[in-house]
Amino acid sequence: QQYASINLNEKSSTVDHSSQHGKELGKQLIKDVSKARIESIDTDTCAPGDEDAFFVADMGEVYRQHLRWKMNLKRVKPHYAIKCNPNPEVLRLLAELGTGFDCASKAEIETVLNLGVDPSRIIYAQPCKTKSYVRYAAEQRVKQMTFDNTDELYKIKRFFPEAELFLRILTDDSSAACRLSDKYGASMDTINDLLTLAKDLDLNVVGVSFHVGSGASDPQCFARAVQDSRIVFDQASDIGYNLKTLDVGGGFSGDLFEAMADVLSKALDEHFPPGVRIIGEPGRYYVASAFTLACNIIARRDIVDPATGETNYMIYLNDGVYGNFSNLIFDHQFVTPRVLSKRDKSTHNVVYSVWGQSCDGIDRITETCTLHGVLDVGDWLYFEEMGAYTKCSATRFNGFTDNHDILYVSSEPGASALLNY
Ligand code: PLP
Repeated sequence: QQYASINLNEKSSTVDHSSQHGKELGKQLIKDVSKARIESIDTDTCAPGDEDAFFVADMGEVYRQHLRWKMNLKRVKPHYAIKCNPNPEVLRLLAELGTGFDCASKAEIETVLNLGVDPSRIIYAQPCKTKSYVRYAAEQRVKQMTFDNTDELYKIKRFFPEAELFLRILTDDSSAACRLSDKYGASMDTINDLLTLAKDLDLNVVGVSFHVGSGASDPQCFARAVQDSRIVFDQASDIGYNLKTLDVGGGFSGDLFEAMADVLSKALDEHFPPGVRIIGEPGRYYVASAFTLACNIIARRDIVDPATGETNYMIYLNDGVYGNFSNLIFDHQFVTPRVLSKRDKSTHNVVYSVWGQSCDGIDRITETCTLHGVLDVGDWLYFEEMGAYTKCSATRFNGFTDNHDILYVSSEPGASALLNY
């Protein structure tokens, strides 16, 4: 299979420059497309829901993140964690670029296979799988899967004995926004028993996997996890396995990526010879910055401070934490509102709190923020960095839609060519 090739021979300064240029172009395209959309909506007369919140996605940003990955983590083949944002255009682009995919369920596996992706490019990275899903993976020849407990080994022995197994180990995820090690990962003192049982069951253990926690903030956590993985490779070898692959999981952030890649690359070079295949499962890294959400102000409450006579405002948007701002709850994120369009021409600082549309008091988007001028019902705000763990975990609570429109732009010719934009 031929995948799109990306020229990595450019000097990094050139790439940095063009990437900055692409980012700025992307932001401009997103603004232009959003403005054109909202200008076409008259909230006084539109059909119900025509003024719903909407996303604008820059596929060029996803493409640039891929380029950045390849430049900084040459050894690590990314398997995009689709749970983070299973957007069909993102998947289509990444399939064209030749990444692998990390799937967590039958439906995710099916989605990726339907794109024409070969089963060997998928890892079923869920250590506690539903039996019928294991049977489905077996039928589809999705062989790579993780485990971290004995029951899973018996399950796999029964339903897919030829599976290629990755032992997921526990990590120190104390620096992560979303800790995963409370739930998954075998502790180092259980490794020997697990591998011995796998050997007794004649199962095919091929590698080790870990995840340093989603939204990790300490690059050193990769170094510690790689060291532990080396220990497991050696233990496995004593038991008679010749492990071939290390899966370094997800947890990569856009802001800290170079620092994380540097620590990880050095640890890999120190502990794993070039012959060992290395894969990763980045999720948010690829998509967080590519999606912007635009929301309409549907109501306002004015709060006058009796002491100073100053007015602060509560504004209510047509989205919220039960919708696309689900990342505030599940992903422990904070968001920054920005003004997309307003009628008031004044520019003085005004303090707002921003609320969602559901009946629940928990549905607060921003506790306090300062914006320029007095916003009113019908004005629009936008929020950047809304691509990860947002739409995919939105609910229909209170009868609101969980299926908001997505408009696509591309700030990179490479992405445009692959997607026919
Ligand atoms: N791999 C596994 C097994 C996960 O559970 C997750 C997220 O929960 C990811 C990868 C993606 O993590 P991130 O979005 O932090 O890169």
